[in-house]
Order: sequence, then structure tokens, then C-alpha cells
Amino acid sequence: MDSIASTRVLILGGTAEARALASALTGHGVPVVSSLAGRVAEPRLPEGEVRIGGFGGPDGLARWLAGERVAAVVDATHPFAERIGASAATAAARAGVPLLRLQRPGWRPGPGDDWHWADSLGAAARLLPALGTRVFLTSGRQGLAAFAHLDRLWFLIRCVDPPEPPLPPQSEVLLSRGPYRAADEAELLRRHRIDVLVTKDSGGTMTRGKLDAARQLGVPVVVVRRPVRPRVSEVTEVNDALTWALERVTGWPGEKSAPAAR
Ligand code: NAP
Repeated sequence: MDSIASTRVLILGGTAEARALASALTGHGVPVVSSLAGRVAEPRLPEGEVRIGGFGGPDGLARWLAGERVAAVVDATHPFAERIGASAATAAARAGVPLLRLQRPGWRPGPGDDWHWADSLGAAARLLPALGTRVFLTSGRQGLAAFAHLDRLWFLIRCVDPPEPPLPPQSEVLLSRGPYRAADEAELLRRHRIDVLVTKDSGGTMTRGKLDAARQLGVPVVVVRRPVRPRVSEVTEVNDALTWALERVTGWPGEKSAPAAR
């Protein structure tokens, strides 16, 4: 295996953390390939090489890893990206390539929060009629069919790209992309007289403003729990993923110039 090819790191992306890691590794002179699913029409592109589209399941990804001579894989996908997370675990083991998951911690309620946990979007939909009538739905553009039968509730649906139908009959779609400030979120909740919020437990700071706004206005929140993904080594900080990846790329300049052990 030649030294240049063996230094490549594959980052499974689609998150701010994945972009930060791509930029940090590129800054260290490590060749990076960031992979995006291709769901968003105009994605924010990371630094370095980018490939877009699925691999064809775990078999396809295992073949891709072997063919591209990848030294390490960082699964920095969103905590709710269940299939690619499972695929990465299977494919990396099969191809004998080290794998790390970079996943931001989940959100936790604080004093004054009125949170209701749900195991799925369907479970979230079942909780709603008892909690409010004007819903701010921020769970993303996929899976909204779970709410489509709720014809007595009004929904403000916020997502980056147009949502996949079917949608609830009484709804308004707001296309936008974070980050969002708590003060702006509070203004949005007030303007639309929102009395219940639905979110996935995405974690991170970019979209947590809505939770602070809901607490401030006494609005209950339905939080969809993260799916269980296969157990793999995991870190929550970009810097820790950077250190892990640097340790695994052969021929990294830092490795060559490292002082001799005493
Ligand atoms: P998913 O259900 O786990 O993935 C479905 C299929 O899409 C996978 O089997 C894989 O196809 C392909 N895929 C997913 N992520 C990929 C990636 N980074 N590179 C190449 N192929 C990928 O994922 P999802 O929930 O639809 O999310 C898709 C992407 O959006 C992820 O990259 C994720 O980080 C990002 N994202 C998701 C959410 C969310 O709430 N789910 C939120 C923000 C961002 P093959 O089996 O053919 O390889």
C-alpha cells in the first residue's frame, strides 16, 4: 500500500462536527474524503474532497473502503442517521479499517423545562393532542406522515428542504437552516401562538435555541429519543476525533517529525 493512499480518512458527514473535523484534518495535511448522502439540495460543503450518494449498503461501503485504501473512518453522521451508522460498523469491521463515531451528546432538560420523551415520531404524534393544538414541528423533512392524520391540530413545519408528503392538512411550511438564536425562536413561537414543540434529541448548540425559548414561554416539548446504533468507539468532541484520526494515518508528517522517545 503506498503511503499517500494509506493516509486517507473517510468522514461520513452531514453535520457541523463532520465539517469541523474535515477542516482540522485538512489543516494538518491529511487527505480527507467527506461523504454526504445527497439529501439536501445545496449542502454546506466541507473542506477537502467530497463524494455524494449512498454506497449501496454495508457491502458497497466495505468494497469502497478496500478499493479506496482508507486508513480510518469517522462516522460523524447525525445521531438519527440509523442506517448509515449500522452500515459503517459492519463495513469497517469487514474491511479491517478502524472506525470511530463522533457524536454530540444528547440534550438534557433543566429546571423549568416541560419535556415529554417519545421513542419514535409515531409516539410523538400520539402525545400531541393532550399537550396542545398549535405545534412547532422541527423533526426534519422525513417521516412527517406520522403526523398526517392529526387534522385537528395546526402545524408550523420547519425544515431545510421541502418536506416529504403526506403532511397534516392544517400546516404551514417554513424553509430555513440554522443556527437559530433563542430570542428569535421565542419571537417565532409567539408570532405563531405555538403551544407545543416537537424535536428530535439532536444535541449540539446550533438548534437548541428553540428549547430555551420553549422553557422561557412555558411551552411543552416532545423530544424524540435517539435510535440505538451499533456499539463502536465513540467520542463527543471534534478534537478527540482529530487526535484519533491522526494517530491512525500512516505517513502523516507529524508522525515522521515526532521527537524520538527518550
Ligand atoms: P440514514 O437513514 O442512516 O441513511 C439512509 C441511506 O443513505 C444509507 O443507507 C446510505 O445509503 C445513505 N447515506 C446516509 N448518510 C450518508 C453519508 N454521509 N454518505 C453516504 N451515504 C449516506 O440517514 P438519514 O437519516 O437519511 O440522513 C442522511 C444524511 O443526513 C446523513 O449523512 C446525516 O448525517 C444527515 N442528517 C440527518 C439528520 C436526521 O435527522 N436523520 C439530520 C441532519 C443531518 P447506502 O446504504 O446506499 O450507503
